[in-house]
Amino acid sequence: MSGKNYSFFKNVENSFDKAAQHTNLPKGLLEQIKACNAVYQMRFPVKIGNEYHVIEAYRVQHSHHRMPTKGGIRYDMGVNQDEVMALAALMTFKCAIVDVPFGGAKGGVKINPKTYTPRQLQKVTRRYTTELIRKNFIGPGIDVPAPDYGTGSREMAWIADTYATFNHGEINAAACVTGKPEKQNGIKGRTEATGRGVYYGLREACNFEKDMKAIGLTKGIAGKTLVVQGLGNVGYHTARIATHEGDAKLIGVAEYEGSIHKESGIDIDELMKFRKETGSIMGFPGSVALPTREAALELECDILVPAALENQINAGNADRIKAKIIGEAANGPVTPEAEEVLLKKGIIIIPDMYLNAGGVTVSYFEWLKNLSHMRFGRMEKRFNQTAFDTLSEIIQKTTGQGLTQRERNILRGADEIDLVRSGLEETMVTAYEHTRSILKRKRKVHDLRTAAFINAIEKISGDYISLGIFP
Ligand code: GLU
Repeated sequence: MSGKNYSFFKNVENSFDKAAQHTNLPKGLLEQIKACNAVYQMRFPVKIGNEYHVIEAYRVQHSHHRMPTKGGIRYDMGVNQDEVMALAALMTFKCAIVDVPFGGAKGGVKINPKTYTPRQLQKVTRRYTTELIRKNFIGPGIDVPAPDYGTGSREMAWIADTYATFNHGEINAAACVTGKPEKQNGIKGRTEATGRGVYYGLREACNFEKDMKAIGLTKGIAGKTLVVQGLGNVGYHTARIATHEGDAKLIGVAEYEGSIHKESGIDIDELMKFRKETGSIMGFPGSVALPTREAALELECDILVPAALENQINAGNADRIKAKIIGEAANGPVTPEAEEVLLKKGIIIIPDMYLNAGGVTVSYFEWLKNLSHMRFGRMEKRFNQTAFDTLSEIIQKTTGQGLTQRERNILRGADEIDLVRSGLEETMVTAYEHTRSILKRKRKVHDLRTAAFINAIEKISGDYISLGIFP
């Protein structure tokens, strides 16, 4: 239920158990994969104006089967231990599904960042980082945070600087956190990465003609109607890339201030501009205001993307959902009770631990970049460019025809952003195919979440077995 008995961690455990039945692994090994390895709950004082605020915060390392552990830090008043544990567990499975060699972790600070000035937020962030350093809960080979709900590259820069100050001379210090600003040891394409990954995942799902036919749709993402909940980093980039690159049609948006509907299609950049100017999406030209804040979730559409927080589609509204595909861009937006109702209706749910893994995938690229101390593409870009130029001259000479602009755009030395996007696309496509193949192979498995969990459990168990911990 969406009520007071809601335990996000229990929900993740239940989905895990549902999938674990389809593996032949020993009970003890499954228990070890499921358990949270380390939970650090802290309280620290920060002086805000003339008062001291005692701040509640967490860092959970769910699994040490691979090191470092990895996962974002959330700033939100809803933060609690159960939530951080659930999110850390999802990180473990997420990393396994996309072959990112980390264990899962997550951090949370119980504050409303909107009520603090940037200076105060910096104080909180630096103090939180100091607490992590004191307990050895951060480091390039230990635990590597990243942005999550309520945080971004600015906070990551503060974390990196605090860590470097306490670890003077550590050559890999920049790799202690990812999602940093591009100019401060970050990587191009990290900000859009989760949204871009969501787009690649949705596009891939829509490319299986048989699967689309089964829900009464045609192949391909182009022309499909899309509704997005949440215009934060993930929701915005998903909507932008799905409409600009995938030709999907955005017809509805739900945000904090309310829901809007525009059947002829919403230009996402126009909407963002309008929101910046007026402070709200309500009243966007040509749109209809819907009666409740979450009403856009219930619109008739092909693809619904919840990109805000957990527990948005629950027993209370599941029977009113009319989408054909739900793409979980947020972590845990659909509760198990809701999932049961949706699956019975034949809706395809593309699970969070696969669909939003683009963020951690590009975090992995950033971490590798920091450890190699060199940007991607630096060595080969010129060499490839010269080879391509020579090749096009030869083509010109032999055929008498030059290359088109489109051909020239492809035949060039790859920059960092090209390589990041190509690595991300490859990761999302391969992971979808692998998960779908499990769904097809196991006759008793009927949904992608269970298949994704089986995918993760099989990989993690392999690690434990090769570590010699389990026979
Ligand atoms: N917070 C993001 C997530 O939930 C990114 C984590 C990371 O990059 O480490 O996947």
